[in-house]
Amino acid sequence: MKTIGLIGGMSWESSAVYYKLINQHVRELKGGTHSCPSIMWSMDFNQIERWQHEGRWDLLNNAMAHAAQKLEDAGAELIILCTNTMHLCYDAIISAIEVPFLHIAEATGQAIKAAGLKKVGLLGTLFTMEKGFYADWLEKRFEIDTIIPNETGRHVIHKVIYDELVQGNITKASKEAFLKVINRLVTEGAEGIILGCTEIPLLVQQEDVEIPLFDTTAIHAEAAVNKAM
Ligand code: GLU
Repeated sequence: MKTIGLIGGMSWESSAVYYKLINQHVRELKGGTHSCPSIMWSMDFNQIERWQHEGRWDLLNNAMAHAAQKLEDAGAELIILCTNTMHLCYDAIISAIEVPFLHIAEATGQAIKAAGLKKVGLLGTLFTMEKGFYADWLEKRFEIDTIIPNETGRHVIHKVIYDELVQGNITKASKEAFLKVINRLVTEGAEGIILGCTEIPLLVQQEDVEIPLFDTTAIHAEAAVNKAM
């Protein structure tokens, strides 16, 4: 199978989950002592989140393109980016490498399509919810409609991601706040919910709700292994 290159550290809380899931999925498919050939280029998230909040997407584009190039130079044959938000740098990444890159919204769109859903709620950072790149990808490639929480809901989700989840802090109060936002999206017609930040699955799981959840970390990790096989 191909060696998977992972651009990680955004945050490492979810990159660690990616690492575990890609290896588990290879074991499921190949059995025994098999594991996933992989390389991770892991960033210091403090620098990344400062640039995000300062709107320095020029510097972030350079950092993501550089990471992808380093992975390709090190022998990666398929590259993934272990965060939804940083797919804002998709164009910069793909113009820096020759090897295939698997977009997280592509993997997620395939999963939603396979479930037969047409309208989903999207939870993630403000960048992911408000900048439209994710919703556009789902709309153009899969004809899936996306709705996002109201302004208050969006700020709650964003704050919990940066102040708690990326720092490994999982609380009952934040879980309840997320479930409230999810319920509201359901009343607005969402047939499923995209956990469109790779740390949200650390807080909210399928057993917490009746509506289908799309765990982008698990979907992306599994799709990467399938593509690398
Ligand atoms: N891991 C998160 C995501 O999937 C948020 C951290 C980041 O901004 O990269 O969007």
